[in-house]
Amino acid sequence: MRIVMIGSGYVGLVSGACFADFGHHVTCVDKDANKIARLKAGGIPIYEPGLDELVARNVAAGNLSFTTELSEAVGAADVVFIAVGTPSRRGDGHADLSYVHGAAREIAAALDGFTVIVTKSTVPVGTGDEVERIIRECNPVAEFAVASNPEFLREGAAIEDFKRPDRVVIGIEDERARAPLEEVYRPLSLNRAPVLFTRRRTSELTKYAANAFLAMKITYINEIAELCERVGADVQEVARGIGLDNRIGSKFLNAGPGYGGSCFPKDTLALMKTSQDYETPLRLIEATIAVNDQRKRAMGRKVLNAIAGPVRGRTVAVLGLTFKPNTDDMRDAPSIAIIQALQDAGAKVRAYDPEGMAASEAVLNNVEYAGSAYEAAEGAAATVIVTEWDAFRALDLKRLAGIMADPLLVDLRNIYPPARAEEAGLRYVSVGRPGKL
Ligand code: NAD
Repeated sequence: MRIVMIGSGYVGLVSGACFADFGHHVTCVDKDANKIARLKAGGIPIYEPGLDELVARNVAAGNLSFTTELSEAVGAADVVFIAVGTPSRRGDGHADLSYVHGAAREIAAALDGFTVIVTKSTVPVGTGDEVERIIRECNPVAEFAVASNPEFLREGAAIEDFKRPDRVVIGIEDERARAPLEEVYRPLSLNRAPVLFTRRRTSELTKYAANAFLAMKITYINEIAELCERVGADVQEVARGIGLDNRIGSKFLNAGPGYGGSCFPKDTLALMKTSQDYETPLRLIEATIAVNDQRKRAMGRKVLNAIAGPVRGRTVAVLGLTFKPNTDDMRDAPSIAIIQALQDAGAKVRAYDPEGMAASEAVLNNVEYAGSAYEAAEGAAATVIVTEWDAFRALDLKRLAGIMADPLLVDLRNIYPPARAEEAGLRYVSVGRPGKL
């Protein structure tokens, strides 16, 4: 199949490269000329494990190419995916669909022969209808069908998720879209991945319902963690105790500083807005958003409360800035609110992240960057683990205790057994766990 991917970001580039790896002929388009120039020169504009090798292999095989020129590629395509951003709209929190609508107008002008246009971006219910309307208005004679195919990959494990998905959801209103999309995903259905065909609105809503459920699950265990701290219970054990029940499942039950990233915050908000527009408010999601919003800053206060004595002018080391490990993505990372709370109290922040420091410079002010975890912790009043990168899982805790002004480790990811940290000479504060038994 000849596939065009509009938008070559975290989703578009990974999906495009994986489709090429399946043997399809893929052109990745992006408006950002720097991004395309970098890709053409053999570089990768984002950090995603394994992506450099996957892209290089498929470019060499002649299956994958990059361009800023949408029209030529779309004219020759069987299937065009829209994988542009859908951030929160400033002011009201609805999904900002201007990039999706813009892409639809550009696609409309370039269509040549029957083409399936597929929204891979996360978009509110009814967006497919609007994309269809825009294309018809811009090009009344075009032959096309609009489908929905939300993407469920996770940054940091994106290639594996794309190639071995739990399911593929495809929403169609026009039967002509079915065969080309079956063909696009044939390599996955041959591998027994469930491919679910639904109506278009169902598919659009499925993506939000999934993300909101996961956000709610995280928020639930975070609230249980708070209660654990008050009653002297251990949230890790509670999570294991409930997660072994198959009806609950053990994933997404790690207590931490609150969810962040490029999807959960904006998608929960967009779903809440949709539900309010349709006068069917989703109270659980409204509560999830409110609880999570206040949790991130509360984690900053947790650090401040743990520091003995005044904080003003003292250094706090922050380990991990990205919203999760194995990505350079800083969008809505909990570290942003935590660092802000520390700085508001007068603390100086020195941070280290294996991949996220360049991206964080654009969103954080007055942060000093270190070359390693130990360099960050040198002379600090506290070291805070915010993101659970592997690089922080086997720290030499004795060394850490020895180089800090005050040997306080606040572990917001519960990486270490409390007893081990305390034996190394650290005062250890974690989430939802009592100290040494
Ligand atoms: P991104 O910001 O990394 O990439 C979007 C790209 O689209 C940018 O490079 C931008 O320059 C480009 N673009 C915008 N308008 C364009 C146009 N008219 N023509 C060509 N290129 C254009 O975003 P992302 O993280 O890849 O997310 C894309 C969508 O996928 C969003 O709706 C998001 O919610 C959804 N999603 C993201 C993830 C994730 O983990 N990042 C997972 C599942 C779904």
